[in-house]
Amino acid sequence: EYIYIDGRFYDKENARISVFDHGLLYGDGVFEGIRAYNGRVFKLDEHVDRLYDGAKAIMLTPTLSKDEMKQAILETLRKNELKDAYIRPIITRGMGDLGLDPRKCAKSSVIIIAVTWGAMYGDLYEKGLTAVSVSVRRNASEALPTNIKSLNYLNNILAKIEANEKGGDEAIIFDVRGNVAEGSGDNIFVIKGGKIYTPFIQQNLNGITRASVLELCDKYRIPLVEQNLGYFDLYTADEVFVTGTAAEIGPITKIDGRIIGDGKPGPITRKLMKAYTELTKTTGTP
Ligand code: PLP
Repeated sequence: EYIYIDGRFYDKENARISVFDHGLLYGDGVFEGIRAYNGRVFKLDEHVDRLYDGAKAIMLTPTLSKDEMKQAILETLRKNELKDAYIRPIITRGMGDLGLDPRKCAKSSVIIIAVTWGAMYGDLYEKGLTAVSVSVRRNASEALPTNIKSLNYLNNILAKIEANEKGGDEAIIFDVRGNVAEGSGDNIFVIKGGKIYTPFIQQNLNGITRASVLELCDKYRIPLVEQNLGYFDLYTADEVFVTGTAAEIGPITKIDGRIIGDGKPGPITRKLMKAYTELTKTTGTP
C-alpha cells in the first residue's frame, strides 16, 4: 500500500505525519471519501469541489490546485494498482506549534490513502439494514455548517457507538429541532405512496450519492420532495434507504424495532439500487 503525502509516495509503514499537525491536534482540516469502480474514479469533480469548498470555508489554503488534486488522486489509485477502491484525500492545516491559531501553521498538508473496497454491507443489500435513532444531535446549520466535511467526526462516531450498543447497522441522527438529519455517514430517504422524501441539505452533509439519487429520480420520473421529516415519517414509511459513497444505496427494513413496509427492500429502492450500480459502471474518470 502506497500513501501519498505532500507530493511523495510512502509505503504504509513509513507513511507518517507530525504529532504537531493541527489536523491531529484540533481536527483542523477537511477530507473526502471517494469510490473507484473498475479503475474509474466516480464523481471525482464533485468530491474535489466539495473538498475545496470545505477548505475555503475554514480558510485553509491547499498546496495543490483542484486539477493537481485530481491528478494526485488518480495517481494514488494507479500506484496501488487498484480497480475497486475507496479513496481518502485529506487536507490538514499542517504542522504548527500548540495553540488553535491557524497562523501557526506555515503550510497545509495533503494525504491520500487508497484501499481496495467492495460492497460495504454485504448481504444486507438483500436483507435490509436495521437502523436505530440515536440521542446525538446533528449540529444546527447555524453552528458549524453541515456541508463542511471536516476532520471533526466525533458526533458521527458517537452516533455509531450508540447504534452499535443498540444493535443497529446504522444510526439515524436528528437535528436539534427533531427533524431527521442523516445517518452516521450517509443521507436518508423515505418513500410513501410512490413519492420519495428527503431532508433539506442544510440538515446534513450535501451528499454526492444523494445528488445522484435526485438525478435518477428525475430520469425515472419518480416524484421527489425535499422536506422536514420526523419519527412518524420513518416509522410509517413504505420504504427507507440511506445513500453514501461507501454505503451506496442501503435499504433499511427496520427502525427502532418497527418493521418498514413488508420488512424487505421495496421495489423503488431496488430500482434505484440497480440504476445506481449501472451509473457507477458506466461513468467515472479513468
Ligand atoms: N453524511 C455524512 C455525515 C457523511 O459523512 C457522508 C459521507 O461522505 C454522507 C452523508 C454521504 O455523502 P456522499 O454521498 O457524498 O458520500
